[in-house]
Amino acid sequence: MITNSVIEDMKISKAKVAIVKTNSSPDYPEIRQAVEKALDLIGGVQDIIQPGHLVLINPSWVAPPVEREAGCITLPEIPRALADIVQELGARPVIAESSAVGVDSEKVIQDSGYQQLREMGYAVVDLKKNKKAYVTLPSENGKVFEVLECWELVQQADVVISVPKLKTHDQTEMTCAIKKLKGLLTDKGKRAMHQEGLFEGVVDLMTAVKPKLAVVDAIICQEGVGPIFGKPVEMNLIVAGKDLVAVDSTCARLIGYKPAETLLTVNAAARGLGIIDTDKIEILGASLDKVKRRFLRSIEDDPVKVEGFRLIHAEATCTGCRNTIMSALIDMRNADQLMYLPGVTVITGGTPLPEGIPRDEIVTVGLCMPEESRTERHVQGCPPNNALVVQAIIGGRAEVKRMYAEESLDKTEQ
Ligand code: SF4
Repeated sequence: MITNSVIEDMKISKAKVAIVKTNSSPDYPEIRQAVEKALDLIGGVQDIIQPGHLVLINPSWVAPPVEREAGCITLPEIPRALADIVQELGARPVIAESSAVGVDSEKVIQDSGYQQLREMGYAVVDLKKNKKAYVTLPSENGKVFEVLECWELVQQADVVISVPKLKTHDQTEMTCAIKKLKGLLTDKGKRAMHQEGLFEGVVDLMTAVKPKLAVVDAIICQEGVGPIFGKPVEMNLIVAGKDLVAVDSTCARLIGYKPAETLLTVNAAARGLGIIDTDKIEILGASLDKVKRRFLRSIEDDPVKVEGFRLIHAEATCTGCRNTIMSALIDMRNADQLMYLPGVTVITGGTPLPEGIPRDEIVTVGLCMPEESRTERHVQGCPPNNALVVQAIIGGRAEVKRMYAEESLDKTEQ
């Protein structure tokens, strides 16, 4: 959330957002230089980071794939650059995040460049590691939540920096600085967010966490069905600002949206948390018109399409089940098992069973599904393991081939 002094500043000046272009495949020195330049352009960070402050640098570790080329998680060089800058200001940086519900954050660290950061001495924290280290934080005039269950470190931090990966998103059109904050919720908090209302719930979270800066990883982004299985797009940009609404408004334009199309940004602006109006935002550094590119939207992308197969997501279906099903279908394609899809209907998120489809052709998925709607092919979990979804689709017709897990299906936690 922006501070009163920032609001005062905004009355007399525009919100500043910096865009800095890098070369293709930038190394650490180049990324550090780009981050520094972006922060210089927005007036430096000495006004928000004081010596002794605990600074929580919050990248995206949503889920594998962790490879740089996949464009899914924040490149480790960006939090590293921020940690170095924070340290030089005499403050204490900690890079911390919790992955999506059901995803092991520690595995994301181990399999990516974040493990190397740890070995170099940076504080890299899997927030899920100590499941008891959570607190409830009050929202300010919350519309969905009066309090939110966040990790304890969020309460301890003097400054929170959102360090998102810029991507299209299957539920919120775009994920950037505001949506990123969901990684500061416990798994229980994340589930509640999806069940109670994401579009105002994340804004409630913003009022509770009060982030003071966003530095966006737009080096390799994702378009189409983000935030995990989208198509990588090389943009080679760093975007930064102290007003997260202005940052997201600008990033929306960067990828071909009108800011008004991104509901989280609209809702945050409507609550006075920042500036969405393009004529009240000063873009510094690279010209937006020169670097922007229209991204394929989630609804324009359909990686697995099989005639005779129906997928019904209820309005309440969260990223957990959406991505689980997507992942299950991609697993089936990789295993040459798409022939088992025709004649099957998969339903998530607690919607009533559609009429006219025999019950034994319906796979119901997830904890949200009311008891009375669950079919004999129901898959338990929140979100369920994707291999169990594949098993429910295939039934006894073939063996499930595990694509990304080492355990056999029998050993999979249910
Ligand atoms: S069951 Fe699925 S849709 Fe429901 S809260 Fe869990 S992950 Fe989300």
